[in-house]
Amino acid sequence: MEEKLQTILHERFGTSLQTASREEVYAALLELTRQEMAARPKIQGERKLYYVSAEFLIGKLLSNNLLNLGLFDEARTVLSRYGFTLEEIEESELEPSLGNGGLGRLAACFLDSIAALGLCGDGVGLNYHEGLFYQRLAGNRQCEEKNPWITPESWLTRTDVHFPVQLGEKTVTSTMYDIDVPGWKGGRNTLHLFDLDTVDDGIIGDGISFDKGDIERCLTLFLYPDDSDEAGRLLRVYQQYFMVSNTAQLILKETEERGYDVRDLHRHVVVQINDTHPTMIIPELIRLLTGRGLTMDEAISEVEQTCAYTNHTILAEALEKWPIHYLEQAAPAIVPIIRELDRRVRAKYDGENVQIIDKDDVVHMAHIDIHYGFSVNGVAALHTEILKRSELRPFYELYPEKFNNKTNGITFRRWLLDCNPPLADYLAGLIGPAFRDDASRLEDLLAYQYDEKVLLDLNSIKRQAKRALSAYLRETQGIELDAHSIFDIQAKRLHEYKRQQLNLLSAIYFYLEIKEGRHPVRPITMIFGAKAAPAYVIAKDIIHLILCLSELIDSDPEVRKWLRVVMVENYNVTKAAKLIPACDISEQISLASKEASGTGNMKFMLNGAVTLGTLDGANVEIRDLVGEENIAIFGKHPDEVIRLYDEKAKDPAAGYNPAEYYADPEIARLVDFIVDDRLLAIGCREQLERLHHELVTKDWFMTLLDLKDYLAAKQRLIAAYEDRKAWAKMSLVNIAKSGFFSSDRTIAEYNRDIWHL
Ligand SMILES: *Cc1c(COP(=O)(O)O)cnc(C)c1O
Repeated sequence: MEEKLQTILHERFGTSLQTASREEVYAALLELTRQEMAARPKIQGERKLYYVSAEFLIGKLLSNNLLNLGLFDEARTVLSRYGFTLEEIEESELEPSLGNGGLGRLAACFLDSIAALGLCGDGVGLNYHEGLFYQRLAGNRQCEEKNPWITPESWLTRTDVHFPVQLGEKTVTSTMYDIDVPGWKGGRNTLHLFDLDTVDDGIIGDGISFDKGDIERCLTLFLYPDDSDEAGRLLRVYQQYFMVSNTAQLILKETEERGYDVRDLHRHVVVQINDTHPTMIIPELIRLLTGRGLTMDEAISEVEQTCAYTNHTILAEALEKWPIHYLEQAAPAIVPIIRELDRRVRAKYDGENVQIIDKDDVVHMAHIDIHYGFSVNGVAALHTEILKRSELRPFYELYPEKFNNKTNGITFRRWLLDCNPPLADYLAGLIGPAFRDDASRLEDLLAYQYDEKVLLDLNSIKRQAKRALSAYLRETQGIELDAHSIFDIQAKRLHEYKRQQLNLLSAIYFYLEIKEGRHPVRPITMIFGAKAAPAYVIAKDIIHLILCLSELIDSDPEVRKWLRVVMVENYNVTKAAKLIPACDISEQISLASKEASGTGNMKFMLNGAVTLGTLDGANVEIRDLVGEENIAIFGKHPDEVIRLYDEKAKDPAAGYNPAEYYADPEIARLVDFIVDDRLLAIGCREQLERLHHELVTKDWFMTLLDLKDYLAAKQRLIAAYEDRKAWAKMSLVNIAKSGFFSSDRTIAEYNRDIWHL
């Protein structure tokens, strides 16, 4: 490798490893990695998977690709010979922000595992130029800025594949870009990203504003454009139809090129629809197949046997539905097909709640997926049960055989080997390298749970990661942390159901205790990372509270010694990879029943954090694996929460009422601090009062219901931290038991039960 790098550096820049800049070394490594990837065989198969998703949160690719190519250790060694680290070289790479959160990161982990298992499957999505916005923190607020990541030299390859797509009245021509997906020690698949040559970043004005009506110039600028007005909602429909029309055309083209008859589509193709954004691929495929001579019955039957749907949410407001006139405007070609699909459903079933087009002429996207796909899966055991029992119950009664669970997973290549080499190397030294290929072998670590030396080592690896995070935050945000404090981290999208506000009430509790002279035994560092959707008012108020509290504490030397509240700017995969190895307490505190699975919980566990969480999503499975004694569970049971919502649905005066909890002076003391003069002096009265009012009068996600239990559980966990050996043992058990959450296991299950590749 050293020689190859020297050659590239010499030929491209007239320099060498001795004299090159970091940017030049990055460019040389990029080229070398791209050559190595091109040399890997493309994975082939009789049957091919298309994983269609609006998001692929792939993160930076250099070190990850080197790892999968088996060049990671060599690269680290060569670079260190010249005084570089791979980490600092990778700083030159811009993170493609092609995703928003867990759903997009899941798609990226899945691509990694599909290739690792040697399965023939490509991802298909959109090439957003600015991706999700860049989050700048200024004036104690989130400011949205554009987030360009496409440079002349990147992992993207422009192809000569183009398709015509009818957007509204007009037909545009797409261009397909490819990113290689090298599998661990294996062949390669591809991520296909569609784009439009006319898109123009120059139309972006202040922040992230642009003319949403200028479809040809704005179509692929941003992921999830603001949908608080009609132009924004229409733009989302345009994006979705553009994505799936290209995907459908690609599928038919490739199937024919592979020598198969599209009349047999379902034998050679399987389409996994990741959440409802790609739903329109169903009518689009039907349309294209009838255009190729199949009858409507034949086309529908083929597509029904080809498409499978993954549900990611039980939040009713997150289940997509579009007024039919949006579709008439953006995707007129498929409206007759959707009407036909709806007509067939009505002919068979009369329940209003299972129809595709409702009485208000609104199209329910998930209903298309469930009627016209052969598989419907949830993403954690609890989530799938809730879908069957409540949210999708009428559909489960119609099609029990379609429903199945696939508990989410994460790729251990990125989330252990790549992001935490000190821990990965240590584990390999202890239990051998087998876990690198088979994550379940991490269980071999259990043999060391009473080994004092190993427990001490794990604690010191954690401290080293905390120091590294502290150094990183000093450089990037000028924040210095105490590596001997407890690192308590909540990093995930900002949403009321994830309950960052609950965590903040605990920060207020500690603050007030310290002010009254009762400080904790050891300092606590509370770290947040979270972006709020630009139009989500309360989420932005919560960010405001995080930042105001942070300022209040930092300016108070008496408190600052014992408590810090820190917010990491622009939480993304790069930041996650820095935060996760350094975490002691993993905050997974969503309202039970609301988090479909979570995957952050799995990443933190794998890196030795102890979970403080509710019985929600995959937390339930984490608890079953590690046992009650190695996790801190608190809060109301999901059944109880569902019962409270049901009661309120029947009678608005019944069910959960925050006022009853606010009547408790201990709770009121914490909640009222949000509008205390000390915070009002720092922050915006309107925002803080709105948040306070929301909690006291609505509190849709039942923060106050779980508050006391949460505080008690958190205090117990913090006390447990003082027995350093017992803590290290908990940490060890969490690492050892995390093998189940390898996305290799998840993908093997998808393949066994759904894809049959
Ligand atoms: C894993 C991950 C998520 C998902 O986190 P949850 O806690 O499961 O919501 C979101 N964003 C990034 C950058 C991630 O890496």
